[in-house]
Amino acid sequence: MPDKKDLISVIVPCYNESEALPFFYREIATVAKTIDAELEIICVDDGSSDDTLEKLRILSANDKRIHYISFSRNFGKEAAMYAGLCAAKGDYVAIMDADLQDPPSLLPEMYGTLKTEDYDSVATRRRTRDGEPKLRSFCARAFYKLMNRISKTELVEGARDFRLMNRRMVDAIVSMSEYNRFTKGIFCWVGFRTKWLEYDNIERVAGKTKWSFWKLFKYSLECIYNFSTVPLDISSFTGFTLCFAAIIGIIVIIIRSLCGAPATSGWASTLCVILFVGGLQLFCIGILGKYLSRTYLETKRRPIYIVRETDEDNKEQ
Ligand code: UDP
Ligand code: MG
Repeated sequence: MPDKKDLISVIVPCYNESEALPFFYREIATVAKTIDAELEIICVDDGSSDDTLEKLRILSANDKRIHYISFSRNFGKEAAMYAGLCAAKGDYVAIMDADLQDPPSLLPEMYGTLKTEDYDSVATRRRTRDGEPKLRSFCARAFYKLMNRISKTELVEGARDFRLMNRRMVDAIVSMSEYNRFTKGIFCWVGFRTKWLEYDNIERVAGKTKWSFWKLFKYSLECIYNFSTVPLDISSFTGFTLCFAAIIGIIVIIIRSLCGAPATSGWASTLCVILFVGGLQLFCIGILGKYLSRTYLETKRRPIYIVRETDEDNKEQ
């Protein structure tokens, strides 16, 4: 009896990707012919408002390899990736975007590496950021530098979510069922041996990016709060330094008055100091609040995503 072929699950988060999906399907179907393994493609419709779901229904009805999970609303890419990982049955699991910015043509090479070399995962990073606004590239670089200084979890600059993992690594990631998810950090946190492939930035094939500058900024803060407690250390240290400065100030004032020096005037500077310290206190409370709010959301144990429909529902009818 011939050896049973491996099953590779490909997870594709889709949010308003109706325009890109036909291109994606054509590409992945071509790649499937060149790879010596079975493929199952799990598209996760993240509450799209266009006809992504209709396209997925048709694709899945025509091709048994295509499965889909549709969310009850938009839960974000992190939730979509988690849903896909939970549903994947493959011996190997890949995550890739629907817009072909993660070239499916790399899949055979990635699979070959995992089969022949001693790695658990093959991940990708962008060598260049061509085609991206300059300010965005600059901020992204600064963010990676900062993050690697303040967190023990090493983040690789330009890393994409596009990667192929073996079952063991996928199980480790699925076991991390935290509500506030930052998957790039989770990939690093779980460890395992990862090989990095590099490729030049590719523009999306159709449709628009869902990430505004503001969304990316909030996403990077999410990463900091999830993988570092350094902001809390900084606020404690600042508080300690200010106390120390105040004690020295008090000693100087006492000595001056004991020596009979006249009282110094300067209500304006006093006001500035009060405002500065008051502002600093609010700022530090804000940081504390961020961590507390995350604890609050985690303790509620809300589901990470809610499914409205899957391809299984249609088969039962
Ligand atoms: N995506 C998603 N939910 C969202 C936003 C994006 O599932 O709320 C998906 C999107 O359909 C795409 C991938 O995540 O397949 C990456 O999104 P996008 O291409 O907009 O990001 P970029 O490549 O510009 O960073
Ligand atoms: Mg994209």
